[in-house]
Amino acid sequence: MKLSQAFIPTLKETPSDAEVASHRLMLRAGLIRPLVAGVYSYLPLGWRAMRKAAQIVREEIDRIGGQEFSLPTLSPKELWQGTGRYDEFGDLIFKLKDRRNRELCLAPTHEEVITDIARTSIRSFRDMPQLWYQIQLKHRDEFRPRSGVLRGRMFIMKDSYSLDADQEGLDAAYHRHREAYSRIFIRSGLKFFVVQASSGVMGGSESEEFMAPTAAGEDTVIRCSQCDYAANLEVAQSVPKPVQPLGEKGSRKVHTPDQRTIDEVSAFLGCRPENLMKSLLYIIEDKPVMILIRGDHELNENKLMALRGSNFRPAEADEALNITGANLGFLGPVGLKDAEILCDIGLREQTDVITGANEDDYHLVGLTPEKDFQVDSYQDLRHVKEGENCIHCGKPLNIINAIELGHIFKLGTKYSTSLGATFLDSSGEKKPIVMGSYGIGIERIIAAAIEQNHDEDGIIWPLTLAPYEVHILPIDMTNDQVSTVSKALYASFREHGLEVLIDDREESPGKKFKDADLIGFPFRINVGARSLKEGKVELKPRHERTVLQIDHKNALSAVKKMMEERHDVEREKLEKVSEKNIFT
Ligand code: ATP
Ligand code: MG
Repeated sequence: MKLSQAFIPTLKETPSDAEVASHRLMLRAGLIRPLVAGVYSYLPLGWRAMRKAAQIVREEIDRIGGQEFSLPTLSPKELWQGTGRYDEFGDLIFKLKDRRNRELCLAPTHEEVITDIARTSIRSFRDMPQLWYQIQLKHRDEFRPRSGVLRGRMFIMKDSYSLDADQEGLDAAYHRHREAYSRIFIRSGLKFFVVQASSGVMGGSESEEFMAPTAAGEDTVIRCSQCDYAANLEVAQSVPKPVQPLGEKGSRKVHTPDQRTIDEVSAFLGCRPENLMKSLLYIIEDKPVMILIRGDHELNENKLMALRGSNFRPAEADEALNITGANLGFLGPVGLKDAEILCDIGLREQTDVITGANEDDYHLVGLTPEKDFQVDSYQDLRHVKEGENCIHCGKPLNIINAIELGHIFKLGTKYSTSLGATFLDSSGEKKPIVMGSYGIGIERIIAAAIEQNHDEDGIIWPLTLAPYEVHILPIDMTNDQVSTVSKALYASFREHGLEVLIDDREESPGKKFKDADLIGFPFRINVGARSLKEGKVELKPRHERTVLQIDHKNALSAVKKMMEERHDVEREKLEKVSEKNIFT
């Protein structure tokens, strides 16, 4: 491509509303343009990169036996009501009506559509296993579309679905995806690791996320400093820090006028927050449930959802007063009637705790679970905190930000049961299809690659995602020799199948260098009159500071050799893809 004819509208200024590097650089390098909140047009450079990411994904899913579909985004409302997700997704779903007033929605994902195809076409265990996928637009009216394409309201997802007759089949499909995903992210030049994940509104049992560590990531992930343990904060576990007991046994009521919060009460009584216990009153499925949690710990609502479903909320002040006889800030489990009591496992060993007395302006001191109040069950309900240790090896945990690149789920029979997708097994018995669902955000591959690979001057593309591989930069096109050699290099690179761009504009060298750094292709060749006197040109890999002086006749072979070296590194990593889940 000749830059003089290309549409690469680079921007000098940093757009003011772009907070994260990938958003800023994608706008500045002319990859995308915004249309409306969370919706972007891809310009030619951006689309080339997207196509490359999609192609890597396509090759790897094909490699594990995937068959590509193209599924519609317009979808009838009833299909989504059939699984209950029309309501579960709520405002996340874009809803519309056609001219006959029929209610439709734009699919936020495609489990329902896939299950609908399966129920009309899969009859027998002999029709399976099947692995179906597509690389297509999804629409989600995200609450806060931000961070550029990392959280768009329209985005491209590779979504695959496995259909099997039994759990073993699902296990195998899940395993194959796990490996394919590792290969995809290695080939995309990303640093990533795998974490245990929550299944959210997808349902199902086992699930893992592929995470790209970077400050711009919206996910918080726990990672052990020593062993392989890694989990999304939504499901992560840890060993809580031990508590020094107060040494005051036996329940005693103390006057705590107007002291409601953990900080207020601990300051007032001269103890530490961890000596207190939070008594949180929730309404779960219309019934009151008191959740007990250590004073310095936070309730993790994701864990509560995994345990009890999504129909829960904190009790209102007047409900709390009705149920306990006290106002918020003074609630407690002692003497509480007609409410279930769920206690976090972090409190199981604890003695002499302080909590509300179910009487305004009073707390109880010296309580021990099960001795002084009833516990219906102990559950893991707390958030992991900074400075805690690993449940497997006892070593410190790190809390880091990461971008969720992909998510793999064992769905089981949730969708096939609710939509009636059944088959006859080998003994003629009717059974629901066992399903898995596996997603990857194509934009997130690109944005994560930029987050992980850039400097103050611009993008540093991984070779496999770069819109072009080579950037030929004639320093002065008006110089005949420079122009001739540059064009000859351009022709020979093209002839050898390399993706090359030549900056044949009559711009100042400063502008040309700035643009080249900004759009960040892996290899740049500077062609200048001075070096050419000795038959030399400069070879500058974008990710290195060094500039090599090479004979212009060797430019092609030098670039090819460097490309080969990068492929070798990639091949070595691919060979190591195995059960081990850390690839940094
Ligand atoms: P998140 O927690 O980030 O909202 P999700 O759990 O909703 O993601 P899934 O429904 O599992 O995501 O979708 C599969 C993949 O699609 C994600 O792993 C992610 O890469 C991508 N993805 C999801 N939502 C968006 C979005 N709004 N913009 C861009 N990519 C997205
Ligand atoms: Mg989401």
